[in-house]
Amino acid sequence: MSMIAISLQSGSSGNCIYVEAGDTRLLIDAGITGVQAQERLAAHGRDIRDVDAVIISHDHGDHIRHAGVFQRKFGIPIYVTAPTLAAATARCDLGKLTNICNFRSCDKIRFGDVLVQAIPTPHDGVDGAVFVIESGKKRMGVLTDLGHVFKDLIAIVSSLDAVFLESNYDPAMLASGPYPAYLKQRIRGPHGHLSNIESAEILCRASKERRLQWACLAHLSEENNHPTIALKTNREITDDQLALHVADRYRSTDVLTVA
Ligand SMILES: [Zn+2]
Ligand SMILES: [Zn+2]
Repeated sequence: MSMIAISLQSGSSGNCIYVEAGDTRLLIDAGITGVQAQERLAAHGRDIRDVDAVIISHDHGDHIRHAGVFQRKFGIPIYVTAPTLAAATARCDLGKLTNICNFRSCDKIRFGDVLVQAIPTPHDGVDGAVFVIESGKKRMGVLTDLGHVFKDLIAIVSSLDAVFLESNYDPAMLASGPYPAYLKQRIRGPHGHLSNIESAEILCRASKERRLQWACLAHLSEENNHPTIALKTNREITDDQLALHVADRYRSTDVLTVA
């Protein structure tokens, strides 16, 4: 059974990734508006009302802000951990929520033939998780807002057929950029984001298993990165051995297929 994915948007302005495997249709995160998600899926011939679940990675607004709309407007159940929902509700107005399914950040969640493995992260959300989606023998990761290169991360990526991997910042751009010192420290610190070099080194190590078909660089910073620079660093370090895509900060990607 093949699997496809479309990043509808990726980065601090909002995150939402669509995954389809067999009859199962999932959204990871709800950081873009209902209209944006609906229109971008429709442009790829998909109806958002057919989505079985939206699974929330963590409590930051760029991942959960519009979850309430997804549910009320399109009838999509929200899968979220209890601490993530509590923290997000305290911070942003999600509106009335009725169809909530709780999971824990280390759980396996089953949707028909598809299994979603949640993996806890050291990012600075209250209870952050990333996800490996498994369908038949195929495994795809949606791995952003990672904190740092935690134990097992390289082994996880090595076990995948395809991955959305955080490549948030170029270290030199962050160092010389406009952010205040405390914010620079947060981003590069142990609970922040992964740099282009860190993502490239993970991909370089994981590629040695010869399983990865492609990687889509994700959650790029607007101020501290550029798609061209992220691609260049990742290409150089992976020695051009891997098909690379970039998830846009404002538009959807093409349909990416895991064959
Ligand atoms: Zn984020
Ligand atoms: Zn975050």
